[in-house]
Amino acid sequence: MSSTDFSSLNLKPDLLKNLSSLGYESMTPIQALSLPAILSGEDVIGQGKTGSGKTAAFGLGLLQKLDVKAFRVQSIVLCPTRELADQVASELRRLARSIHNIKVLTLCGGAPFGPQIGSLEHGAHIVVGTPGRIEEHLRKATLKLEFVTILILDEADRMLDMGFQDTIDKIIEKIPSSRQTLLFSATYPDEIADIACRALKNPTILEAPAVHEEDTIKQYFHLTNTDDERMSALRLLLAKHKPESALVFCNTKSDTQDVADELAHYGFYALAIHGDLDQRERDQALIRFSNGSVSVLVATDVAARGLDIKDLDMVINFNIAHDAEVHVHRIGRTGRAGKHGVACTLFSDRETHKLETLDIDLSNVNDPLPSAIYLDKPIKKPVMTTLKIDGGKKQKLRPGDIVGGLTGKDGIPGDKIGKISVAGNWSYVAVSSELVKTALKKIQNDKLKGKTFRVRILS
Ligand code: AMP
Repeated sequence: MSSTDFSSLNLKPDLLKNLSSLGYESMTPIQALSLPAILSGEDVIGQGKTGSGKTAAFGLGLLQKLDVKAFRVQSIVLCPTRELADQVASELRRLARSIHNIKVLTLCGGAPFGPQIGSLEHGAHIVVGTPGRIEEHLRKATLKLEFVTILILDEADRMLDMGFQDTIDKIIEKIPSSRQTLLFSATYPDEIADIACRALKNPTILEAPAVHEEDTIKQYFHLTNTDDERMSALRLLLAKHKPESALVFCNTKSDTQDVADELAHYGFYALAIHGDLDQRERDQALIRFSNGSVSVLVATDVAARGLDIKDLDMVINFNIAHDAEVHVHRIGRTGRAGKHGVACTLFSDRETHKLETLDIDLSNVNDPLPSAIYLDKPIKKPVMTTLKIDGGKKQKLRPGDIVGGLTGKDGIPGDKIGKISVAGNWSYVAVSSELVKTALKKIQNDKLKGKTFRVRILS
């Protein structure tokens, strides 16, 4: 018996038999890694993308634990979107085919509330849903979670991106602390560590093997002596590499604004961030860059310090850093999480001494710039576009209301919604650029929480 055989696990015979009838012959890597810990009742953090078999990993965990005779909600799965919740529910139903009378209920925003109340009155063993709607049921006391023994946070990073942190915290408060908690996430931003601290007990962390940063950052150095040369080098590099997210470092505030303005003049989706902007402008620039609707952010080191943005495709040093530590810190913002990153540094003859302090081999630093042909190519549009809604926390708007307002009839699919950020008096939501007009129309025609809000595209 190999360690990837499902029979090596202590599963209920009915569950095991059904797996072979589903054609699941051996465990996928995430299942083999996580199932022993899940079945022994431990809290687990797993790195699982869609397609890895993570649903069956937590699904078998919750079905093994379930007492079908006790007709009450014993398991809850929180998902970022309705599409994912539907997928999870159907996989759970397939895994549970051999258990009679098991009831899996989905509770998602964008669907009418009334029928959900009816279904809840009939009872369910497992609830799968999106945070906003589940919290609404808890507030209205149409759902009770006092008998839940296992909580699953699926695609936790996406739920946090969509602004569901507070909502998730409120849901967790209603679940007994004796529960088992499983968290799956494709990435591990700091916020995942925060939520793991609050919601999980001594979790077993199953990480994908770490990749060394040095191996994944490709550095280039380009000699540019005049201001004009520097600017056209920047345009060439952006035009050639077509990054979805690039951070350009300048050494002064006024340079960041000039460079961003000039890039925007040439059609790049670029913004500056520096200390002279007011808080709202700063927040807006950060939100648009981190939600993928602006692809170039031009910053000083100080302004970039608070930036919590992962997985940049590219870092460009428009001005070379003053010392080695700053340089390493700048370029370390790309090539994370096993991805490949590109770091380009522009320098002048007078700045070659700075390269020495970076421990760079001076005989090998003048990389050729991309061909000028790239300047004639169309500039890549960001995949996402930001909608700004003139309503926020003060108007009691929550991420779930915005998801609900965008999806459903004549709306857009939940997986076309990106980050949602709700501030005091306004909210920002990123949607796929190709569907932005549909999204705008839907949210303008429909009310959010019974009220009409002004919505516009930020461009
Ligand atoms: P998921 O990553 O959970 O979305 O699952 C991806 C697909 O793999 C689903 O269609 C599952 O039905 C299928 N699957 C999950 N586990 C196994 C397994 N051990 N063997 C074969 N297929 C599997």
